[in-house]
Amino acid sequence: MTDAATDTAIIIGAGHAGGELATSLRNEGWAGRILLIGEEVHLPYHRPPLSKAFLANAGAATNLLIKPQAAYDRANVEILSGVRVEQIDRASKRLLLADGRALPYSKLVIATGGRPRPLAVPQATAAESCDNFHYVRTLDHGERMRAQFEAGRNLVVIGGGYIGLEVAASAVQQGLKVTVLEALPRVLQRVTASELSAYYERKHREAGVDIRTGVQVADVEIDPATNRVSAVLCNDGTRLPADLVVVGIGLLPNTELASAAGLDVDNGILVDEYAQTSDPDIYAAGDCTNHPNALLGYRLRLESVPNALEQSRAAAAAINGKPKAYASVPWFWSDQYELKLKMVGLSQGYEQLVLRGTPESDSFSAFYLKGGKVIAADTVNRPQDFIAAKRLVAEGLIITPEQLADDSIALKELLPAA
Ligand code: FAD
Repeated sequence: MTDAATDTAIIIGAGHAGGELATSLRNEGWAGRILLIGEEVHLPYHRPPLSKAFLANAGAATNLLIKPQAAYDRANVEILSGVRVEQIDRASKRLLLADGRALPYSKLVIATGGRPRPLAVPQATAAESCDNFHYVRTLDHGERMRAQFEAGRNLVVIGGGYIGLEVAASAVQQGLKVTVLEALPRVLQRVTASELSAYYERKHREAGVDIRTGVQVADVEIDPATNRVSAVLCNDGTRLPADLVVVGIGLLPNTELASAAGLDVDNGILVDEYAQTSDPDIYAAGDCTNHPNALLGYRLRLESVPNALEQSRAAAAAINGKPKAYASVPWFWSDQYELKLKMVGLSQGYEQLVLRGTPESDSFSAFYLKGGKVIAADTVNRPQDFIAAKRLVAEGLIITPEQLADDSIALKELLPAA
């Protein structure tokens, strides 16, 4: 039971996880004060559109809000925006804020997400002060980048992962001349089979994107007269003139607050299946955590909206004394051109790949099998396959490779009733 007069729950980080936590805590029965503290000046907003639809239309930033202010008011959640938490003092159960305030907590949730992995080249720090050099994580990043999307400009995207490819697709559709540089031999190498990479490389090339794989970026060139990045320099000696540069090479979890407070951290803040850290009064959720997944049988750190939301709900339930283990199959999505890619499971270590439908038709699925079971699937413009794949992965159901490949029978016909 919480004491309405004395108990305070504080959430650090007003992103997908933090926003969900604040209202879930109230819904689950927290009677005391709830305080959501965010470094950004915005209410929690949807990040995925920042590399997708947001770049293509000039909609107001408020369109991205996950919930309106009224929803937090109804749940009696206080929001402190534009303030950074500098320190967690576990001994006195207080937070120190950048503006000098000290706030006591009864329960604390760390939902600090992550920040873009910085480009490791000699001129990277200088480039960060140039207004045509972009990382993509925040709404402010997105607004700055979108303002420079003008037809005919040269955009160099560093990184052929989902975010880089989504930005490339949005840009080329707006008439920019786009080059994507990927250090590995193929795009999306860390997350998909070579068949999927080949498909996406082909779609981008057909749209006019210059995809270059196996290319290391050596440095960026800065014009001292304008303090703008003027080119990207590659290890093979190539100089690519650039009007703007976008870097999408991964994420570093924001775990420093937790480490400094002496919490266990190892590629993310270590939490259990109830989102509890090594301190029983401190929980953590979202991109910044490393959690056990009973369905997969190992620990992992995920960067996805479904993970942030579901783990937050588990944390809110546990804080209110109603523990429900978080054990979901990871799933993700990516929108590029007219292609709706939805993925479920993690394909690492797969032994066999089965295609259903053909890439040429822009409607197909790829199933990753291990030990005869589907451990992951990528579905392109195939929502029905995605629904079936989620069950295949979560429930460990067996369907033969021949059945998976046979597009004449809907997968749902082969599954037991849910
Ligand atoms: P965040 O949303 O990053 O929120 C953390 C918040 O904490 C930030 O606002 C940060 O400023 C704040 N913070 C950090 N430190 C402090 C501090 N000390 N004091 C106060 N505040 C602090 N996921 C998908 O599932 N599908 C997609 O298609 C997809 N596309 C994406 C596209 C882009 C461009 C990006 C950037 C991400 C995308 N993601 C996608 C990932 C998804 O957005 C993240 O997994 C999700 O936002 C994680 O939520 P979070 O709350 O853990 O972290």
